[in-house]
Amino acid sequence: MRLILFVTSALALFLSELNSTVHAQQSKWSLALHGGAGVISKDLPDSMKQLYYEGLEEALSVGEEILSEGGSALEAVEMTVRSLEDNPLFNAGRGAVYTNEGTHELDAAIMDGSTLAAGAITGVTTVKNPISLARNVMTDSRHVLFSGAGAETFADQTGVERVDNSYYDTKRRYEQWKRAQQQSNLGKENVIPDEYKYGTVGAVALDKDGKLAAATSTGGMTNKRFGRVGDVPIIGSGTFANHVAAISATGWGEQIMKNVSANTIANYMEFNGSTLEEAMDFVLTERLNPGDAGFIGVDHEGNISMQMNTVGMFRGSIDSHGNRTVMIWENE
Ligand code: ASP
Repeated sequence: MRLILFVTSALALFLSELNSTVHAQQSKWSLALHGGAGVISKDLPDSMKQLYYEGLEEALSVGEEILSEGGSALEAVEMTVRSLEDNPLFNAGRGAVYTNEGTHELDAAIMDGSTLAAGAITGVTTVKNPISLARNVMTDSRHVLFSGAGAETFADQTGVERVDNSYYDTKRRYEQWKRAQQQSNLGKENVIPDEYKYGTVGAVALDKDGKLAAATSTGGMTNKRFGRVGDVPIIGSGTFANHVAAISATGWGEQIMKNVSANTIANYMEFNGSTLEEAMDFVLTERLNPGDAGFIGVDHEGNISMQMNTVGMFRGSIDSHGNRTVMIWENE
């Protein structure tokens, strides 16, 4: 009898320990975001710096609220990216750069690491929040990537908010485009000044259920033409999530694409037994060239890594342990 009692109480103790371990694991969440990488001058006026920090903080809070209340990683990355898309400072949504024709064409992608479901759109011109249309492609269609006119027709069938293309007009991007046009008139189109290469927004998250998701949205490169598509909507290049990690890229899209960068980071971890930090470093130093790109990522344990081989990257992160950062350059 005594033995039965002893075994029963030992079992009860073991089960309660197990339960609290599982609970502790499940209550963990993490979120990271970026607002583009590139040559970001340290001479950025304090007032501008402040605006960037505020924009990053605001987007972090959006994701924080969702994840801390038990919302999904997918919801968190979509809503975080929407916040950045609505901010004219970043090259996505409202602040998208100009094409060679003086219009705006936007790309976005989202991926659910728990199912490998993904949705993406490229070359859309009237969708206020491209990331939400990408999510609709994922949930309401049998396909992964819609482009141009087809993507607009698909948008007609969804409830996404539409805008005139002039909604994305901003003075700062207009002036940047004019400078880019002058360069190309001088026949220097192949020498793309760093200023024109970069800008994109993205978010990655791990939710309390242990699920990972990634989302990225961009206006692409200033003065782009011929329907240029960058890395962002190409699943595995600028955006990727599976059971190992969720990654979002920013930088020179052609370089990121050629190295299938986001997927390579996740695969390097899985096949090589490397950490997220090591895998990201491998792609940035062994595959890409200095000045090419930046990445944010989160792994299945909630570890966050944000690295770039550019001068700066607008970025931020937050987790359930109360860690919170917003940064632009290496240490600031
Ligand atoms: N990767 C984006 C593109 O090539 C641009 C960027 O992130 O700055 O479209």
